Amino acid sequence: MGIREVREIGDEILTKQCKDVPKMTFRTKILIEDMLDTMYEKNGVGLAAPQVGVLKKIVVIDVGEGPIVLINPEIIEASGEQTGEEGCLSVPGKWGIVTRPERVKIRALNQDMEPFEMEGEGLLARAFCHEIDHLFGELYVDKTEDGLHDTAYEAYEEKDGEETEE
Ligand code: ZN
Repeated sequence: MGIREVREIGDEILTKQCKDVPKMTFRTKILIEDMLDTMYEKNGVGLAAPQVGVLKKIVVIDVGEGPIVLINPEIIEASGEQTGEEGCLSVPGKWGIVTRPERVKIRALNQDMEPFEMEGEGLLARAFCHEIDHLFGELYVDKTEDGLHDTAYEAYEEKDGEETEE
Protein backbone atom coordinates (compact mmCIF):
# COMPACT_ATOMS: atom_id res chain seq x y z
CA MET A 1 0.00 0.00 0.00
CA GLY A 2 1.19 3.46 -0.71
CA ILE A 3 0.13 6.92 -1.67
CA ARG A 4 2.00 8.23 -4.70
CA GLU A 5 2.69 11.82 -5.62
CA VAL A 6 0.17 13.11 -8.16
CA ARG A 7 1.81 14.99 -11.04
CA GLU A 8 0.25 18.35 -11.81
CA ILE A 9 -0.43 20.29 -15.00
CA GLY A 10 2.81 21.70 -16.38
CA ASP A 11 4.59 18.39 -15.77
CA GLU A 12 5.68 17.09 -19.16
CA ILE A 13 4.82 13.49 -18.32
CA LEU A 14 1.11 14.37 -18.49
CA THR A 15 1.48 15.21 -22.19
CA LYS A 16 3.09 11.92 -23.23
CA GLN A 17 1.70 8.82 -24.90
CA CYS A 18 1.59 5.71 -22.66
CA LYS A 19 2.78 2.23 -23.60
CA ASP A 20 0.76 -0.99 -23.58
CA VAL A 21 1.22 -3.29 -20.61
CA PRO A 22 2.55 -6.56 -22.15
CA LYS A 23 2.24 -8.76 -19.05
CA MET A 24 1.32 -8.54 -15.38
CA THR A 25 4.28 -8.27 -13.04
CA PHE A 26 4.62 -7.88 -9.28
CA ARG A 27 5.73 -4.30 -9.85
CA THR A 28 2.62 -3.53 -11.91
CA LYS A 29 0.37 -5.11 -9.25
CA ILE A 30 1.89 -2.80 -6.63
CA LEU A 31 1.43 0.16 -8.97
CA ILE A 32 -2.29 -0.64 -9.35
CA GLU A 33 -2.75 -0.99 -5.57
CA ASP A 34 -0.96 2.34 -5.05
CA MET A 35 -3.08 4.02 -7.75
CA LEU A 36 -6.27 2.87 -5.99
CA ASP A 37 -4.96 4.04 -2.60
CA THR A 38 -3.98 7.41 -4.10
CA MET A 39 -7.33 7.88 -5.84
CA TYR A 40 -9.26 7.18 -2.61
CA GLU A 41 -6.92 9.31 -0.50
CA LYS A 42 -7.46 12.29 -2.83
CA ASN A 43 -11.23 11.68 -3.21
CA GLY A 44 -10.94 11.25 -6.97
CA VAL A 45 -13.26 9.17 -9.15
CA GLY A 46 -10.41 8.09 -11.40
CA LEU A 47 -6.66 8.08 -11.84
CA ALA A 48 -4.41 7.19 -14.78
CA ALA A 49 -0.85 5.87 -14.47
CA PRO A 50 0.85 8.95 -16.01
CA GLN A 51 -0.66 11.00 -13.17
CA VAL A 52 1.65 9.12 -10.81
CA GLY A 53 4.56 9.38 -13.24
CA VAL A 54 4.29 6.01 -15.00
CA LEU A 55 3.78 5.93 -18.79
CA LYS A 56 1.76 2.71 -18.89
CA LYS A 57 -1.80 2.17 -20.08
CA ILE A 58 -3.41 1.62 -16.69
CA VAL A 59 -6.50 3.35 -15.31
CA VAL A 60 -8.40 2.99 -12.03
CA ILE A 61 -11.94 4.31 -11.59
CA ASP A 62 -14.53 4.32 -8.81
CA VAL A 63 -17.67 6.36 -9.37
CA GLY A 64 -19.18 5.02 -6.14
CA GLU A 65 -19.90 1.51 -7.39
CA GLY A 66 -16.60 -0.14 -6.47
CA PRO A 67 -13.15 -0.12 -8.03
CA ILE A 68 -12.62 -0.74 -11.74
CA VAL A 69 -9.13 -1.48 -13.09
CA LEU A 70 -8.51 -1.08 -16.81
CA ILE A 71 -5.32 -2.24 -18.51
CA ASN A 72 -4.70 -1.22 -22.14
CA PRO A 73 -8.24 0.18 -22.41
CA GLU A 74 -9.81 1.42 -25.62
CA ILE A 75 -13.16 2.96 -26.43
CA ILE A 76 -14.98 0.75 -28.92
CA GLU A 77 -18.38 2.48 -28.99
CA ALA A 78 -19.68 5.89 -27.98
CA SER A 79 -23.10 7.46 -28.35
CA GLY A 80 -25.18 10.39 -27.15
CA GLU A 81 -23.87 13.52 -25.50
CA GLN A 82 -23.57 14.96 -22.00
CA THR A 83 -22.30 18.38 -20.99
CA GLY A 84 -21.16 18.87 -17.42
CA GLU A 85 -18.51 19.74 -14.87
CA GLU A 86 -15.20 17.97 -14.91
CA GLY A 87 -12.15 18.15 -12.69
CA CYS A 88 -8.84 16.35 -12.43
CA LEU A 89 -6.48 15.47 -9.57
CA SER A 90 -3.66 16.85 -11.76
CA VAL A 91 -5.40 20.24 -12.01
CA PRO A 92 -6.19 20.96 -8.36
CA GLY A 93 -8.70 23.63 -7.40
CA LYS A 94 -10.18 23.95 -10.89
CA TRP A 95 -13.14 22.68 -12.88
CA GLY A 96 -14.49 23.17 -16.37
CA ILE A 97 -17.45 22.31 -18.57
CA VAL A 98 -16.77 19.47 -21.00
CA THR A 99 -19.03 17.68 -23.46
CA ARG A 100 -18.58 13.91 -23.57
CA PRO A 101 -20.56 10.95 -24.95
CA GLU A 102 -23.45 9.86 -22.68
CA ARG A 103 -22.72 6.17 -23.23
CA VAL A 104 -19.34 4.57 -23.78
CA LYS A 105 -18.30 0.96 -24.26
CA ILE A 106 -14.70 0.03 -23.52
CA ARG A 107 -12.55 -3.02 -24.05
CA ALA A 108 -9.65 -3.65 -21.68
CA LEU A 109 -7.71 -6.30 -19.79
CA ASN A 110 -8.35 -7.05 -16.13
CA GLN A 111 -5.62 -7.64 -13.53
CA ASP A 112 -5.31 -11.26 -14.72
CA MET A 113 -4.70 -9.89 -18.23
CA GLU A 114 -8.03 -11.30 -19.43
CA PRO A 115 -9.99 -9.23 -21.95
CA PHE A 116 -13.40 -7.85 -21.01
CA GLU A 117 -15.87 -5.26 -22.21
CA MET A 118 -17.84 -2.82 -20.09
CA GLU A 119 -20.49 -0.20 -20.75
CA GLY A 120 -20.81 3.03 -18.82
CA GLU A 121 -23.39 5.80 -18.76
CA GLY A 122 -23.29 9.30 -17.31
CA LEU A 123 -20.45 9.78 -14.83
CA LEU A 124 -18.87 6.41 -15.61
CA ALA A 125 -18.86 7.20 -19.36
CA ARG A 126 -17.26 10.57 -18.53
CA ALA A 127 -14.64 8.86 -16.34
CA PHE A 128 -13.79 6.34 -19.08
CA CYS A 129 -13.20 9.19 -21.57
CA HIS A 130 -11.28 11.42 -19.16
CA GLU A 131 -8.96 8.68 -17.89
CA ILE A 132 -8.31 7.12 -21.31
CA ASP A 133 -7.45 10.61 -22.61
CA HIS A 134 -4.67 10.73 -19.98
CA LEU A 135 -3.09 7.66 -21.61
CA PHE A 136 -2.70 9.69 -24.81
CA GLY A 137 -1.30 12.75 -23.05
CA GLU A 138 -4.57 14.69 -23.22
CA LEU A 139 -6.02 16.78 -20.39
CA TYR A 140 -9.63 17.97 -20.07
CA VAL A 141 -8.42 21.57 -19.81
CA ASP A 142 -7.99 21.60 -23.60
CA LYS A 143 -11.62 20.50 -24.09
CA THR A 144 -13.49 22.94 -21.87
CA GLU A 145 -16.19 25.14 -23.34
CA ASP A 146 -15.32 28.32 -21.45
CA GLY A 147 -12.00 27.69 -19.76
CA LEU A 148 -11.26 26.82 -16.15
CA HIS A 149 -13.09 27.97 -13.04
CA ASP A 150 -11.90 28.00 -9.44
CA THR A 151 -13.60 25.56 -7.12
CA ALA A 152 -15.61 26.70 -4.11
CA TYR A 153 -12.55 25.95 -1.99
CA GLU A 154 -11.26 29.49 -2.46
CA ALA A 155 -14.53 31.06 -1.38
CA TYR A 156 -14.43 28.82 1.68
CA GLU A 157 -10.91 29.95 2.48
CA GLU A 158 -11.99 33.57 2.58
CA LYS A 159 -14.20 32.84 5.57
CA ASP A 160 -11.29 31.31 7.42
CA GLY A 161 -10.77 34.08 9.96
CA GLU A 162 -14.22 33.61 11.50
CA GLU A 163 -14.27 29.86 11.73
CA THR A 164 -10.79 28.81 12.68
CA GLU A 165 -12.06 26.24 15.15
CA GLU A 166 -13.72 24.09 12.45
ZN1 ZN B 1 -7.55 13.59 -14.83
